[in-house]
Amino acid sequence: MDTSFTAEENAFAEEVRAFFAQAYDDDLRARLESSNPTIFRAAVIEWQKRLHAQGWIATGWPKEYGGTGWNDTQSFIYETERAAAGVRDVIPFGLKMVGPVIYAFGTDEQKERFLPKILESDEWWCQGYSEPGSGSDLASLKTRADIDGDDYIINGAKIWTSYAQHADWIFCLVRTNSDGKKQQGITFLLIDMASPGIKVNPIVSIDGHHSLNEVEFNNVRVPMANRIGEQDKGWTYAKALLAHERTGIAGVADSKRGLTQLRELAANEVNAGRTLLSDPLFQKRLSDIEIELMALEFTELRVLASVAVGGAPGAESSMLKIKGTEIQQAIQQLTMDVAGYYQGMLPNDMSAEQLGHDFGSQARQAFMYGRAATVYGGSNEIQKNIMAKAVLGL
Ligand SMILES: Cc1cc2nc3c(=O)[nH]c(=O)nc-3n(C[C@H](O)[C@H](O)[C@H](O)COP(=O)(O)OP(=O)(O)OC[C@H]3O[C@@H](n4cnc5c(N)ncnc54)[C@H](O)[C@@H]3O)c2cc1C
Repeated sequence: MDTSFTAEENAFAEEVRAFFAQAYDDDLRARLESSNPTIFRAAVIEWQKRLHAQGWIATGWPKEYGGTGWNDTQSFIYETERAAAGVRDVIPFGLKMVGPVIYAFGTDEQKERFLPKILESDEWWCQGYSEPGSGSDLASLKTRADIDGDDYIINGAKIWTSYAQHADWIFCLVRTNSDGKKQQGITFLLIDMASPGIKVNPIVSIDGHHSLNEVEFNNVRVPMANRIGEQDKGWTYAKALLAHERTGIAGVADSKRGLTQLRELAANEVNAGRTLLSDPLFQKRLSDIEIELMALEFTELRVLASVAVGGAPGAESSMLKIKGTEIQQAIQQLTMDVAGYYQGMLPNDMSAEQLGHDFGSQARQAFMYGRAATVYGGSNEIQKNIMAKAVLGL
């Protein structure tokens, strides 16, 4: 397979590199890492607005809706350069999840109302799928929507809702019918987070950060005009979104950066005159991950190529999700091993300054949050069940 780029593609890579070097400056980088929620939210919006001004905010969207209309190679180059420069990906809920659902299944009014604000990052979205008791078995969800005139009245609760504390809107799956198969009575709604009756309760995760929440709905009134597609058919739209979500979770470009950083860290760890990087056992562990990552990258390119000619990512997205997240966790584990007892340090620890690095505490945080990767987007066990059914016919 010829994987070399044309002169034009190399020029595009250069353009992307130059843009990131200039637009993703150190000041912005620091604010994006801030633990202050107000500073973080404002920095995300500022960065996404800079991307929008450059015309690169909606990399997967068709041109007619304001996307880049890039081909797969351009998207691949962009993604590779983004990760290599340590540039944060956009918040996915508007741009990568509900946006594509709106332009694929929404009405003209919904497209006009919501898409520009997603592109401008003027409205922050979150995803209301999971519920207490309905995670893997998502179709068993119980949050109810009862019809009242031209509105639905929503009662129930969503959980693990990432960034609900920052969100202006939430896209939700709600139950509109309890007869028949559980998948058939679900409706896809767009709900204004400022609606009376919505309450957001924070959940702090094991890494000490607050990104997760429970969202309660008590008699929340939602206009029927905010329904995507047909009533009771929400499962179809939800599934389309999940396939794309899983493909994105593979995170190949970010794992490549993780490996590069790991190599640099191991090159700086010297014991008895030898670097850790030159240790044969360490090299073996590093190479094992590298080989898996290379195989994943080619698999992802193959899936993207089939999507480009009209295919939809089906069971393949489950495969990418499983391998991608296993590789992410393997990198996090090896980074923890390189950190050794430095992983016990606290962020900004004095001793970190004396040592000249604080990667120990960063490694620990990444490792801890990273446990979630094999759970979110549909757990890896569930992805294996999907593949067993769809690919092996079991
Ligand atoms: C960091 C993080 C962010 C998230 N963000 C969001 C969000 O923004 N919006 C949202 O809607 N959801 C979000 N989620 C929720 C996520 O999608 C669910 O956690 C996930 O689907 C698993 O559901 P559950 O937590 O209820 O676990 P359960 O379904 O209770 O599963 C528990 C365990 O049992 C296993 N299991 C369950 N059923 C089977 C089976 N049939 N066969 C084999 N094994 C099985 C699972 O693999 C898992 O290991 C997030 C989760 C995390 C961790």
